[in-house]
Amino acid sequence: MNYKEPLANINTLDCCDLGIAYQCNYKCRMCHFWQNNPLNEDNVLSIEEWKEVLKQLPQLPKNDNLMVNFAGPGETFLRKGIFSLIKYGRQLKLKIQVISNGSLISEDICREISDAGLEFLCLSLDSLNPKTHDYLRGVDGAQERVLQAIENMARYSSETKIGINTVINGMNLDEIAELTEWAQRNERISHINFQAITQPFSFTEASDELWFKDENKGFLWPLNESLIHKTIDCLIGFKGLGYKIADSVQQLNNFREYFLNPLQFIKNGRCNLGKGNVLIIDPAGNVSICSLVGIIDNLRKQMNLSKILSSEDAFLHKKNINVCRRNCHLVVSCYYQEE
Ligand code: SF4
Ligand code: SF4
Repeated sequence: MNYKEPLANINTLDCCDLGIAYQCNYKCRMCHFWQNNPLNEDNVLSIEEWKEVLKQLPQLPKNDNLMVNFAGPGETFLRKGIFSLIKYGRQLKLKIQVISNGSLISEDICREISDAGLEFLCLSLDSLNPKTHDYLRGVDGAQERVLQAIENMARYSSETKIGINTVINGMNLDEIAELTEWAQRNERISHINFQAITQPFSFTEASDELWFKDENKGFLWPLNESLIHKTIDCLIGFKGLGYKIADSVQQLNNFREYFLNPLQFIKNGRCNLGKGNVLIIDPAGNVSICSLVGIIDNLRKQMNLSKILSSEDAFLHKKNINVCRRNCHLVVSCYYQEE
């Protein structure tokens, strides 16, 4: 492979994650970003810089269904200027999804969401039991706010599709079936997407494959083998009935294997991010395919995605991905691809 070929290191893009948020109002137990957040207004990309990023996306090789996620780390609706960014993306005919903890979606925000023409909103909901969700998210009343957000959206932004994102973990394993039934009944919800708990996200902690044995995090790990089988079998059964579960049967079975055997890499072959279908840009403008193995370049040094992705550094980045065998949230959940 000649790394100097134009865009040799990016394949047809399916998904692009833009870290437009950089502050958070939650204290989730599956994420330590709020404890060690190094980001501030001065070291993150401005809204104008993000618009330049959006402008360049249509010039990259991309799938017609390319999904552009406005994400964190952090809560997206805390980001000032988010609505002008959504509008700009829509003018460029990009498919935009905003990922949110659902804490700030008041009636007024819903009207702005509608006005901006947002297509997809993805809300975190880990349980119908308020105690479980609030404990996991570290804030009292968090679950009630998500349910209120869904109602507000139904009234004031009915064109936006709402997805639910649920992290399966040791605390909600026995509540997953009930949550899925509820999502199935709720006409406002277009799909429910499951993720499997992985090492809590943090800017400062190194990768630790034994994180689930840590006395402070171990409670997140599902230990009850018969409940793991029962829950995954139930979800696969629901899929057979046509439930709106986004994960494939293969992915659900991979969750099972991962929970039972966390030290075994979930892929038979290489990590699928090596295909180059994913592009990640963090709040500080660092460009990567997998942010966990490193960065290719920074947009403040070079605001040119085509050049960055066809560089020698991009080639080396992909080489590192191809030898990585880490059960991280990207390969297990966010960008899972069937083999
Ligand atoms: S998971 Fe998201 S909402 Fe929760 S603390 Fe981390 S950045 Fe904030
Ligand atoms: S296995 Fe995870 S950490 Fe390793 S390259 Fe793939 S996505 Fe990145």
